[in-house]
Amino acid sequence: MIVLSILTCRSKALIVDYIKSVEIRSVFAEGAAEKILDFLRGSLFPVEQNFCFYVRKGIRHFEMYCNTGHEGTNNGIKNAATKVLPNHNTDKCTKIMADHDATKMAFYRLDAAAQWEGKALWSATATVDYLLAPAEDMTQSALEEAGNYASLRTRLVQWFVVRSVDREVKGVIPQYARVYIGTFVDGFLICSCEFFQCNGNCCRHIAHVRVYYSANPQLTVHNSAIRWWNHSCTG
Ligand SMILES: [Zn+2]
Repeated sequence: MIVLSILTCRSKALIVDYIKSVEIRSVFAEGAAEKILDFLRGSLFPVEQNFCFYVRKGIRHFEMYCNTGHEGTNNGIKNAATKVLPNHNTDKCTKIMADHDATKMAFYRLDAAAQWEGKALWSATATVDYLLAPAEDMTQSALEEAGNYASLRTRLVQWFVVRSVDREVKGVIPQYARVYIGTFVDGFLICSCEFFQCNGNCCRHIAHVRVYYSANPQLTVHNSAIRWWNHSCTG
């Protein structure tokens, strides 16, 4: 099920409608839908704005969840694409952690090869020689994802951007397709997802607008915060 939402309050109405729907009620036990709605209305919606997600949204935090290296390792294990889950046995956990190390090692190898060659070979973007590896990675994935979005230019300086390609969803989990709003302000494209404010790098929605509406569809170092520029830029 794909649901479109623009505002947070609209999202609340959508989730309520979704839980009330005949299809969802048919898979819940008797009275379960009402209990979920009671929980949402009584314990979630009133305090939602105090959640850590909202409090830190828009603050430059680079997606860091921790203040120590050890906590960072724990976060990587728990939140990575292949993560350790509570029901995994020791063998499975060890295998996952070894795979994490192998991935990290492959990244170091690419980085070492790039330094040895004098130019990065793992990315073909125009920014590859001027950005630090994490920012180049974010830029590359933003460009790759840009084609998965559709947009509508609503004003001379404003675009509505929405995902147009379905994500793979299993079960009865609703698939939200939020409408992101890109706005041209003082010479800068800013996005309502606030990815740039959090990470200092261009998001996929702005990359979409840039690729499909600009005379020069390339992203440049100026789409990344100075914090991500390498010595070639900062000299
Ligand atoms: Zn965005």
